[in-house]
Amino acid sequence: MERSILDVLNSGIVILDSHYTVILWNHWMEINSGIKRQDIEGTHLFNHFTHLNTPFFTRSIKSVLKFKNHVYLSQKLHNFLFPFPAKGIYAKQFEYMQQSCSLVPLPDNEDSRGKVVITVQNVTESVYLEQNLKMMTRQDALTGLYNRRYLDSRLDEEIKRYNRSHRDFSFLMLDIDNFKKVNDNLGHPFGDLVLKELGTVCSGIIRGSDIAARFGGEEFAVVLLDTPPDGALTFAERLRRAIEEMVVTNEDGQSLSVTVSIGLACVSEDINTTADLIEGADRALYVSKKNGKNRVTLYDAEKHNMIPSKSR
Ligand code: GH3
Ligand code: MG
Ligand code: MG
Repeated sequence: MERSILDVLNSGIVILDSHYTVILWNHWMEINSGIKRQDIEGTHLFNHFTHLNTPFFTRSIKSVLKFKNHVYLSQKLHNFLFPFPAKGIYAKQFEYMQQSCSLVPLPDNEDSRGKVVITVQNVTESVYLEQNLKMMTRQDALTGLYNRRYLDSRLDEEIKRYNRSHRDFSFLMLDIDNFKKVNDNLGHPFGDLVLKELGTVCSGIIRGSDIAARFGGEEFAVVLLDTPPDGALTFAERLRRAIEEMVVTNEDGQSLSVTVSIGLACVSEDINTTADLIEGADRALYVSKKNGKNRVTLYDAEKHNMIPSKSR
């Protein structure tokens, strides 16, 4: 009777004795693990799941047995207890089913040490929705890059980190040259396609730790972590050239290339706020435009100087 109720539950139930012997393995556990109850009940749990033989897990079980407390293993901290492969649409985002589990004491008349019930709840769907919602609030819909809101919050964080530990980083602003003409001559959808492909070039060229964002309209920004001015100039020149070489072609076979003007500013004793950093890069960008576009300029706050990229 008891068993049949446990078998209709839409979550995993495992009962262990004080020696980690599996006393009960419900139907949900059978389906998700691929291990039949007759193959696991009466055997040692760690024979099947060696990764659970950790001081943390054994300490938790001992504490439940001894103090009769409940232990909650949140997905937020542990991701999962039993490594069951994620299924369906979730498999793209997660290797394993995300689980929230609890360890609960179960009194036993025959064994004074008692038993432990492990409950396993599949929370993959809610974690998936939460992660995707979070990403949507950070992402620019057209280019897939980060949006301005996320960029601002990361810049604030990085500035705080710089003021604590003086780790260099650089900020790059980029504006497409004569973009209005692209829209005017080939139409707004073509302009959108250019923005999208430029976003792909940016994310393809940066390091994993860097942050590429759409700053707004036809302006983009890149935060180059641990990058001093000379490294930022080299990167900016590489990005400028990669964009110059990009050919955008629409479904009708119309093709076009664009160029960009770039402004750079690096954190320093003189530039140690988000506003100063943005203003510095923006001023350098303005100089790139004024000097003929399709070029890179670095704002040197210490010398109040604008440094053009050497390779042009
Ligand atoms: P400059 O070389 O001085 O930067 O000239 P520009 O033509 O690029 O600059 P301007 O600021 O005059 O024009 C920017 C254009 O970008 C105007 C606006 O319609 C276009 N734009 C902004 N956002 C989008 C967008 O999301 N899609 C498209 N297709 N166009 C956009
Ligand atoms: Mg602009
Ligand atoms: Mg422009």
